[in-house]
Amino acid sequence: MMQTRSTCPYCGVGCGVIIESDGTQITGVRGDPEHPANFGRLCTKGSTLHLTASAAITRSSRLLQPMQRLQRDAAPQPIDWTHALDTAADRIADVVRQHGPDAVGLYLSGQLLTEDYYVFNKLAKGLLGTNNVDTNSRLCMSSAVAGYKKTLGADAPPCSYEDVAHADTVFITGSNTAWAHPILFRRMEDARAARPGQRWIVVDVRRTETAETADLFLQIRPGTDVALYHGLLHVMLAEGLTDARYIAAHTTGFAALREVVQDWTPARAAEVCGIAEADLIQAARWFAQADRPGGATLSLYCMGLNQSAAGTDKNAALINLHLATGQIGRAGAGPFSLTGQPNAMGGREVGGLSNLLSAHRDLANPAHRAEVAALWGLPDVPATPGRSAIEMFEAAADGEIRLLWIACTNPAQSIPDQAMVRRALERAEFVIVQEAFATTATAAYADLLLPATTWGEKIGSVTNSERRISRVRPAVAAPGQARHDWQIAIDVARRIEARLPERLHGQATLFPYADAESIWNEHRESTRGRDLDITGLSWAHLEQHGPQQWPMPEGARAGRPRLYEDGVFPTEDGRARFAPVSFRPVAEPVDALYPFSLISGRLRDQWHGMSRTGTLGRLFGHVPEPGVEMNAADLAALGLKDGDLVEVRSRRGSVVLAAQAGGAVARGQVSIPMHWGEEVLGGTDADGTPRRGVNGLTLPTFCPGSKQPELKHAAVSVVKADLP
Ligand code: SF4
Repeated sequence: MMQTRSTCPYCGVGCGVIIESDGTQITGVRGDPEHPANFGRLCTKGSTLHLTASAAITRSSRLLQPMQRLQRDAAPQPIDWTHALDTAADRIADVVRQHGPDAVGLYLSGQLLTEDYYVFNKLAKGLLGTNNVDTNSRLCMSSAVAGYKKTLGADAPPCSYEDVAHADTVFITGSNTAWAHPILFRRMEDARAARPGQRWIVVDVRRTETAETADLFLQIRPGTDVALYHGLLHVMLAEGLTDARYIAAHTTGFAALREVVQDWTPARAAEVCGIAEADLIQAARWFAQADRPGGATLSLYCMGLNQSAAGTDKNAALINLHLATGQIGRAGAGPFSLTGQPNAMGGREVGGLSNLLSAHRDLANPAHRAEVAALWGLPDVPATPGRSAIEMFEAAADGEIRLLWIACTNPAQSIPDQAMVRRALERAEFVIVQEAFATTATAAYADLLLPATTWGEKIGSVTNSERRISRVRPAVAAPGQARHDWQIAIDVARRIEARLPERLHGQATLFPYADAESIWNEHRESTRGRDLDITGLSWAHLEQHGPQQWPMPEGARAGRPRLYEDGVFPTEDGRARFAPVSFRPVAEPVDALYPFSLISGRLRDQWHGMSRTGTLGRLFGHVPEPGVEMNAADLAALGLKDGDLVEVRSRRGSVVLAAQAGGAVARGQVSIPMHWGEEVLGGTDADGTPRRGVNGLTLPTFCPGSKQPELKHAAVSVVKADLP
């Protein structure tokens, strides 16, 4: 038996795994006892990775050879790699020549490795000359990026998992950690047991499994997070619980924020949030450690804050609380955003969003563009802002983007307003889908399918929520003709270079990489002098010493677990900035026609569109099928009962599902899991197309600061299904 150390490909906890194989087949998996993220533990998803890997092959859901569809309604036909790569390069070069580079859009994934991300971004922003390269991480954490930058000056979560063991108050807001980040949650439970008196405050619109463990649960109305945080700060100010010394020494802008929050009395904030005023006051005292001077407060947050049309403001308003109380830069304290996907963080590092450039540089900054152009040996990087996820598909639906290259993600299920996404995929002149799985909804729209490797086969690196970089290693050879994502991108890029030689500006190639390590080395050098400097972290160091947290500049022997311990922030004056944001309600309020609030979310044992977890029967033991979770009183008021088929309708479409009576959702709300797509659910989109998943209902409105869409709320109606 062979053993290979690697990383779990699911959530942002980034657990280390040891893959067991016989050299050709993956036969088992166990937690890596030496990995600092999990110390040997795995959750249900991670501990069944070996089974899902083999099930995908035996069930033929893996894409094992390049395929081409010569007509949109025809079945795809197998082709060889040379033909596939030439076709991709021909079509991309043709579109660039005829319509300009901005007629091409690349849509990537937080499940790609850092090396994959780096090559794709250089291909778009360097070789092609378009910033139209975005990622499903836009749907996941771009509000966290914008919130950190707005307040702390850089996209850098300042905390580590070990902080849960040092916290006196853990403030969990917009995160069902028990289900979405299970191994971190186990670690939190251990920390609470070992630290008597540690208090957990949970803020959520649903009474989640995490909420059930809270010492204080605030079940707020959807979208009222900013009102809550302003109300908490109002109480802290009124009771003298802010840290005047920290505010004076390390921040700017507190006067403006004080003015904003003076109207947010606890009575008003509690009223807007739909919670008891006494609970809000209690939360403020616990957060500010009123009874434990010097105590530490750690906030953990995720999609409940990020997936919102006010996502940046929600993140910033929460960070305001940490700055106002000095709860940052020391053990057990800080605003700690959890990433949903395994490498959302790595994507951010290489500039994997349409508004970013390598190493946390900003596209809008001329000096940053010049630095990246110099690194790549190019005269410039285009200044035209790229399209974000929603904008990219809207542009394709409008005919402005003519070619889409989609890698390792399934927008035909995951992007809101599915009718719009389908129009985009149908209208695009050419759609390239680079995937490990042939069965995604998006693959059905592909003109060209490029088979990619997946977990157990891939080589490269990922970064988890706590800035920890881990290696991803192959245990077995790629099945069929599958190739690594970075290899495919390089092979297409070199062919594009032959067709558009003027883009090379005298260089032989922009992609002189022989392997993943050589890509890593270029990425590593691009971070020199930046906040995430990893010039001291060689591939060999990762091999010898295991996962490391950034920053780790040249000369450092290990990464840094905690940021801002010196109170100096990466802003022009070294001070953090308070954000005097205003409360804005949800983008689509409920009304007489659509009186219910729809919440979408994850289940414990499924991952995204279930390409992997959906192949394994045992992972349906927890929740066997999708349903509409409703408050029992609402069901009764509608004359419905548990198990009745109901139609949930929004302005964009409908789904038909069984009603599930429960106490987790408040009255006036319904909750639907995000994992099931068109295979299971009944209903139609607004244009009459049948059977879409929950994102047939959600709306594409996005946060102006982060461009992250409001996946966590839509106005819907619920009626008894009228099925033939
Ligand atoms: Fe994988 Fe996340 Fe589970 Fe860890 S907690 S085993 S990273 S899914």
